[in-house]
Amino acid sequence: MKKTELLYEGKAKKVFSTEEKEILIVSYKDDATAFNGEKKGTIEGKGVVNNRMANHVFKLLEKNGIPTHLIEELSDRETAVKKVNIIPLEVIVRNIAAGSFSKKLGIAEGTKLLEPTLEFSYKNDALGDPLINDYYAIAIGLATREEIQTITEYAFKINDIIKEYFLKANMELVDFKIEFGRLEDKTIILADEISPDTCRLWDVNTHEKLDKDRFRRDLGNVVEAYNEVFNRLGL
Ligand code: ADP
Ligand code: UDP
Repeated sequence: MKKTELLYEGKAKKVFSTEEKEILIVSYKDDATAFNGEKKGTIEGKGVVNNRMANHVFKLLEKNGIPTHLIEELSDRETAVKKVNIIPLEVIVRNIAAGSFSKKLGIAEGTKLLEPTLEFSYKNDALGDPLINDYYAIAIGLATREEIQTITEYAFKINDIIKEYFLKANMELVDFKIEFGRLEDKTIILADEISPDTCRLWDVNTHEKLDKDRFRRDLGNVVEAYNEVFNRLGL
């Protein structure tokens, strides 16, 4: 598989076309951003951790009946994926209160939710990814009602699968963000990544943060946290 053209350079990945129309190559960078790009930095080795982890998790999800964009890991940082039309929704599942949820609702970080919850943000940097609901998403044409239903079912199933997977490595899955896309035939599949950039992972015993919050909140040991996740998952 050969890269032909850089189609898009995002905050964390580059996306290339290939000789095959339906296949893209994503290349994971060490660049880190937070607060809608206001805070910028580099986390050495992050691209390798995220590429490996996303692929590992996506394989596990495939085994459990969730369709994903994964085709093949090509190298430490590069993976061939099925090209999709990304549905511009950040789909966020939460098990424990943290981040914007805690702030908005005045619920202390670390409070266990009575059941997992789901929310959507409109993926739009210019607007700062505003929180919306399913009715908004349908009304402005981001997705159909049927698609929202599929996405919702997949999101909770993904949560069940990966919550257990991380727990085996002594990490609590606090919350995470995923993205879905449509293949040519409109089939919905999981795209983008699942990594410490997009999940909150806490050590089960100490509640130490092992994710991008170390970068967002200047907690130090950022590279170490990504490597810790990498090692715990045996990647
Ligand atoms: P951002 O765009 O938020 O800065 P990234 O740096 O991760 O994010 O860039 C990767 C881009 O590629 C994202 O916009 C993501 O939605 C998109 N993407 C992820 N998987 C696929 C896929 N299979 N097909 C097409 N686009 C994808
Ligand atoms: N998240 C993400 N990309 C975003 C926004 C959130 O990957 O643009 C992830 C984030 O890492 C966390 C979850 O989604 O695991 C919930 O984030 P939250 O809404 O609490 O936002 P934050 O506190 O990061 O602003």
